[in-house]
Formats: sequence, structure tokens, C-alpha cells
Amino acid sequence: MKYTCAYCQKHSCHKNELENAPKNCPTKNENEELEKILDKYNENENYNIAKVSAEVVMDNYGAKPRVKEIVDFCTKMGYKKLGLAFCVGLSKEANIFAQILTKHGFEVESVICKLGSVNRDKIGIKDCDVPMCNPIAQAEFLNKQATEFNIVLGLCVGHDTLFFKYSEAPVTVLAVKDRALAHNPLGAIYQADGYYKNRL
Ligand code: SF4
Repeated sequence: MKYTCAYCQKHSCHKNELENAPKNCPTKNENEELEKILDKYNENENYNIAKVSAEVVMDNYGAKPRVKEIVDFCTKMGYKKLGLAFCVGLSKEANIFAQILTKHGFEVESVICKLGSVNRDKIGIKDCDVPMCNPIAQAEFLNKQATEFNIVLGLCVGHDTLFFKYSEAPVTVLAVKDRALAHNPLGAIYQADGYYKNRL
């Protein structure tokens, strides 16, 4: 194991105190690599996304819900046409969110996970009448409409992976799917020493 930031108690990178950083700290030890990576922020789209993202976070820090941050981010980026890839189980939420985006002047292309109504036989799952989720189609349909930015709402683990893999536009996530915890996966982390101790 080379990188152990998850176990670091110092966070010297955050405090600008690299003299106190752990011995294997990648910020301290991999300067050359980090410099090369910094060049990528000079690329136009990367520069804008990084800058606008920081501006949105700093504006009224901590007070804005993610929905508002997404609206602000898309507005500042100058996007006009957005894609919304959502799960059938979050159709109501998708409807409300699409209305909010539209109210803010965006054109919204929205595609549901069951797009194509494809039988699960296709992926080797037998005896199930519920159509399979089709995140590749969600991504490709949004690609075809040339959405400038896509937003994922409630796709399952793995389905979101395929969506990210095929989306041509950059992507953010409004919410992830967690059926057991009201789509709040961190609930399990907060309970990792408590009720979830023996379940994780
Ligand atoms: S980069 Fe270095 S200081 Fe920062 S969390 Fe990782 S190990 Fe700790």
C-alpha cells in the first residue's frame, strides 16, 4: 500500500505544514508528479470547472444545499443544455429537480434508467419481469442531444459507473442510490461504530 491519506491524522497538506507530514506523504514526496498534473488545470475546461467549483463552494460557504450548488455551478459555467439521468425509484424527485432547473433557464433532457425496457435476460438474469437498468443508453441518448453537463440522480452502484464511463459531457451527482438509508449512504459510516458495527 503506497497511499494512506485515509489514515493520516496530520493533514499537513491542508494546513500548509509539510514539515510535519508523515514519512510516506505523497504531497511531500511526489513533487515532480504533482507539478506535471498541475499542467492539466491549464486546459480550458478543467480550469473553468475547477475555478467555478471553488467559487460556488466559497460563496455562502456551507449554507447552500447541493441542488442550489448545482444550479449555481451550471449558471456560472454558462451551460444551457443539461442532461438528467435518473432512477425510476426517484421519478418524483427527478420531476421536481427538472422543474427547478427549467425555472433557472436551463433546457433539460431527462432519461430514466429503464430506457429501452430491455429484459434482464440480456445480462444473464433469468425469471425477472422488471426491465434492466440501461445506463449506457441513458448516457448515449444524452450524448446524442449534446448536453453540456449531465447530472445523475439515484443510479445504483455500478449503473452509475457505466453512465460515467459513457457520458461524453462532464457529470455531477445530485444523489446516489441507497435503498436502506433513504439515499444517505454516509448513515452507515456514521453508525459504523454503533448499530452497523457487525453489518459492514
Ligand atoms: S497528503 Fe500527506 S499530509 Fe495530506 S493527508 Fe495525505 S499523507 Fe496526510
